Amino acid sequence: MRQAEADAEAQEKPGRLIVISNRIPTDEVPAGGLVYAIHEALNDIGGLWIGAGTPSDEAQEGLTEVKSEAYDKATFSLSRTEYDRYYLGYSNSVLWPLFHHRADLLSVYERDFEAYREVNRRVARAVAEIARPDDMIWIQDYHFLMLAREMRDLGLKNRIGLFLHIPFPNASDILALPQGPQIANWLAAHDLVGLQTQRDVAAARETLRRDPDCEAMGNGNWLFRGREFAVLSFPIGIDAEEFARKAAESPVPELQLSPDAPLLLGVDRLDYSKGLVHRFRGFGAYLEQRSQHGTRPTFLQIAPVSREDVSAYQDIREELERAAGSINGAYADLDWTPIRYVRRHVARERLAALFRRANVALVTPLADGMNLVAKEFVAAQNPDDPGVLILSHFAGAAEQMQAALMVNPFDHGNFAHAIDRALHMSLAERQDRHASLRENVFKQDIAWWTRTYLNRLSRVPAYQEDRPRD
Ligand code: ADP
Repeated sequence: MRQAEADAEAQEKPGRLIVISNRIPTDEVPAGGLVYAIHEALNDIGGLWIGAGTPSDEAQEGLTEVKSEAYDKATFSLSRTEYDRYYLGYSNSVLWPLFHHRADLLSVYERDFEAYREVNRRVARAVAEIARPDDMIWIQDYHFLMLAREMRDLGLKNRIGLFLHIPFPNASDILALPQGPQIANWLAAHDLVGLQTQRDVAAARETLRRDPDCEAMGNGNWLFRGREFAVLSFPIGIDAEEFARKAAESPVPELQLSPDAPLLLGVDRLDYSKGLVHRFRGFGAYLEQRSQHGTRPTFLQIAPVSREDVSAYQDIREELERAAGSINGAYADLDWTPIRYVRRHVARERLAALFRRANVALVTPLADGMNLVAKEFVAAQNPDDPGVLILSHFAGAAEQMQAALMVNPFDHGNFAHAIDRALHMSLAERQDRHASLRENVFKQDIAWWTRTYLNRLSRVPAYQEDRPRD
């Protein structure tokens, strides 16, 4: 189609939203905050949701339509080798550890990067085939950092946004990435790069400033080889109303605990970024110093395994089992197991009810983009008798949730002290802290997040190839 015809068509039809994420939900109405929020946005605006298909022997060009009612869904194809190299390899054994400040865990192989580039290129070609000039393209997360650059190279002039759900790495961590010098170029291909926190924006600024082609313009705007783009923070939220309702209405699962026994709760995917071993040791330090005559708290950690095909995830599993065993060995009694470690996935209703029953939540990652569990715990509480959130400085949520009891997960003494304080906190202090946390969790919820991001992206002026925007 010639440009004039494409422009005329775009004027007739309002632009669609094209979302690209690693996975697309299979349910007609998906459960879970982010996928539900994207589902709602697509329902409102109309458009297309693209995600990876099931890996097969050989990858195919283009998109495969998936049956869906309100808006379109499609998958791009991945070969099994690409799944190993692009997904398990470059995405989850290079970018994930690096962006979580674990350069020591990197497994760098050129062939993994080549597969990552190939998948990003194939998706770019597929989108370029179907995108209309007025469509807004919203890329999700670290699996597609090069996608916008590849789309621009194919001539796409659409509004393109990226939201990175994980932390942005420090400039010194990026030195460990062979492709580090290209990151500014990849980011600059978007119109809007959304990050979780101000801390992430500051880290990105450090990297962009080092690039000779990048110039800071203030207010989060940058100029890269004459083209403007923005890097701003949009802290993601949860569907707080829905989660609070679930927590109030669902029965608490049977725990074999007396109703007034103090319950500490941790809920995480089993991932080295979540600080689970540090958490177990911090709880161990608390047990060491607690009065033998006080109440005996139970710490329930729910942590289903994830990414089992990546070796760093097998190591953490064994380390955690050893830590739980040795702490229980030292402190358990005939009628008391201090740490209960459950590897099962728990249904959302049961999880919400458990959050409400818990006296204390331990949300203590060593690095985390946001951490939605912190927000879910707050939403689930009974405001008249709320539990206490113990939150790590290193969760993205810490920026909005300073009314939590803040801890340094590396400092076991500090951790033990926070648990003691939480278990003895007065009702008035619990209520005060909770009211302040709750206000933010309900106000900046997931609908606020999608709305704010998409409003900003839709206000980007039309694409200018070689001349800065006004
Ligand atoms: P991440 O995206 O790194 O896993 P988040 O805390 O941001 O971490 O989001 C995790 C989501 O998964 C939350 O909505 C949480 O309730 C859910 N979740 C975590 N662990 C479990 C579990 N054991 N069973 C069910 N849901 C879980």
